[in-house]
Amino acid sequence: MSTIKFLRSSTHNALRSSLGWCRHAASRPRYNYDLVVLGGGSAGLACAKEAAGCGARVLCFDYVKPTPVGTKWGIGGTCVNVGCIPKKLMHQASLLGEAVHEAVAYGWNVDDKNIRPDWGKLVRSVQNHIKSVNWVTRVDLRDKKVEYVNSMGSFRDSHTIEYVAMPGAEHRQVTSEYVVVAVGGRPRYPDIPGAVELGITSDDIFSYEREPGRTLVVGAGYVGLECACFLKGLGYEPTVMVRSIVLRGFDRQMSELLAAMMTERGIPFLGTTIPKAVERQADGRLLVRYRNTSTQMDGSDVFDTVLWAIGRKGLIEDLNLEAAGVKTHDDKIVVDAAEATSVPHIFAVGDIIYGRPELTPVAILSGRLLARRLFAGSTQLMDYADVATTVFTPLEYSCVGMSEETAIELRGADNIEVFHGYYKPTEFFIPQKSVRHCYLKAVAEVSGDQKILGLHYIGPVAGEVIQGFAAALKSGLTVKTLLNTVGIHPTTAEEFTRLSITKRSGRDPTPASCCS
Ligand code: FAD
Ligand code: NDP
Repeated sequence: MSTIKFLRSSTHNALRSSLGWCRHAASRPRYNYDLVVLGGGSAGLACAKEAAGCGARVLCFDYVKPTPVGTKWGIGGTCVNVGCIPKKLMHQASLLGEAVHEAVAYGWNVDDKNIRPDWGKLVRSVQNHIKSVNWVTRVDLRDKKVEYVNSMGSFRDSHTIEYVAMPGAEHRQVTSEYVVVAVGGRPRYPDIPGAVELGITSDDIFSYEREPGRTLVVGAGYVGLECACFLKGLGYEPTVMVRSIVLRGFDRQMSELLAAMMTERGIPFLGTTIPKAVERQADGRLLVRYRNTSTQMDGSDVFDTVLWAIGRKGLIEDLNLEAAGVKTHDDKIVVDAAEATSVPHIFAVGDIIYGRPELTPVAILSGRLLARRLFAGSTQLMDYADVATTVFTPLEYSCVGMSEETAIELRGADNIEVFHGYYKPTEFFIPQKSVRHCYLKAVAEVSGDQKILGLHYIGPVAGEVIQGFAAALKSGLTVKTLLNTVGIHPTTAEEFTRLSITKRSGRDPTPASCCS
C-alpha cells in the first residue's frame, strides 16, 4: 500500500474554507468529509446534493466500467445514460413512426409510405442529449459544492474509502463520518458459450453503431419488453425469448394482455425457452441455439443482434464490503427502514439495496430523505409502498398498488371487488386502431366506501395517467370518491371515473363503441 494521501484539489480547499460556518465541519473535524457517496447515479447524486445543501462536506465517487463491447458513459448513472432517458427517447421515436402512419388517416399527405428511421441519426441525437445531461450534472455538482471524483471507490475500513485517481496512479484514501453506497447494478449475462463475446445488453443498445436488424431479446421483464417494442416500432424484427412468464411480479391479466398486444403488433414470443449457445456464422450473423423447457425440444435461429435482458446484478464486488463489515444478501446490500446497513454509519440507497423497487424516483427520493435525516434533523423515512410504475411499451402499462392476485392472496377473494373495462380512446377511431387491448381495472375492498388497493391501466400515455391517480391512492382513494370525480372529456384517464362493471357481475366489460 502506498503512502496515504488526502485529496488536495483546489475545489476541495475552497470548499473546506467556505464551510467555516458549517456545523458538521466544526463539530466533526475527525474526518476529511461528513459524507462520502459511492456512485453518482440517481440515488447517489440526489443524496450528495441534498447533503451539501444542508451544509455537509460531501465527496461523490462515480466510475463506469466499460461493457464487454467497450461501451462507456459519463456521470449520472443508469437512468440518464443507459436507462430511463435513452429508453424514453427511443420509445418516443417509435411512437412517432406510428403517428406518421396514423397521420395519413387524418388527412396528412405523407408521400413516402415506406418511412424508415435513420438509426445512426437517432443514436447520435440520443447520445448528444445524454452528453448535455452529463455536462449539466457536473456543473450542478460544482454549483452545489459537491466534490466529484471520477474513480471507483472501495472500503479500506468502515470510515475510509480508497481509490485510484487515474489508471496506474497510486492509491489514495479519504475518511468520512458517513458513507452512502449507491453503486446500482449492471445487466447480467447468461452463463452460456458466446454470451459475453457476441451478445449486447441495454448498456450497449442506446449507442449501438450498427442497425440492430433481426434481434433476439432474451428476457421478458421491463427491459426486454420495452427494448423489443421500440425496436419493432423503429422497423426492426425483435423476437422475445421468455423463460417462464412475462413481467413476473405484475398483475397477471394485465401482463398477458400486454403480451397479446405485442404479438398482435408482430412481435413473436418464444415461450418457456432458454438460450443454450450463441455462435458467429461465416456470414457474420449470430446462430442462437435454445431449448424449450416445456417440450424439451432443441431449436435454433439466426439473428443479427442478441440482446440479454435477464435482470441486473448489484455492483458490490469492487467495494471490499468485508473490510467495513457491511452485510449483503446475494449481490445486494441489506438495509433497515432508515437505509442503514449492518454498520450504523454506512447507508445504502437505490438499486443496490435488497428487496426494494429498482426505479429512479425511488432512488432519488430515498437518497434525498436520507441526506435530510443525516444532516438536517429530519426523521422522515422513505415510504416504499404503493410506488407507481410504467412499462413503456407502445400502449403503455402503468399501475400502482396491488395486483389482483396479491389483493386476493392478502385479503381473500370474498373481500375484493375488481372493477374493469375496455375502452376506445377517441383518437383511435379515425385510424381504426385496434382497441382490444386498451383496458383498465381497479382492485378495491368489497365493503364500505371500497378503498382502492390497486389501479392498472394499459393504453396511450399510461404513465401520465397513473401518476396522478398514484397520489390519490396514497391519500386513501375509494371507489366512491373515484365515481364522484368529474372526468375530463374526452380523455382516456376519464375512464377511471366511469368504472361500473365488476368482474363478479360477469357482465361484458366492452363498451358498445369498442366494437366498431
Ligand atoms: P445507478 O443509476 O446505476 O448509479 C450507480 C452509479 O455508481 C453508476 O454510475 C456506477 O457506474 C457507479 N459505481 C458503481 N460502483 C462504483 C464504485 N465502487 N465507485 C464509484 N462509482 C461506482 N427506472 C424508472 O423509474 N423508469 C424507467 O423508465 C426506467 N427505465 C430503465 C430502463 C433501463 C434499460 C434500465 C436498465 C433501467 C431503467 N430504470 C428505470 C431503472 C433506473 O435506471 C434505476 O432504478 C436507477 O438508475 C437506479 O439508480 P442508482 O443511483 O441506484 O444506480
Ligand atoms: P427483470 O428482473 O424485470 O426481468 C428479467 C427477465 O429475464 C425475466 O423475464 C426473467 O425470467 C428472465 N431471465 C432471468 N434469468 C434468465 C436466464 N438465465 N435465461 C433466460 N431468461 C432469464 O429485469 P430487467 O433487466 O428487465 O429489469 C431490471 C429492473 O430495472 C426492473 O426490475 C425495473 O425495476 C428496472 N426497470 C424499470 C423500467 C421502467 O420503470 N419502465 C424499465 C426497465 C428497467 P423469469 O421471470 O423466469 O425469472
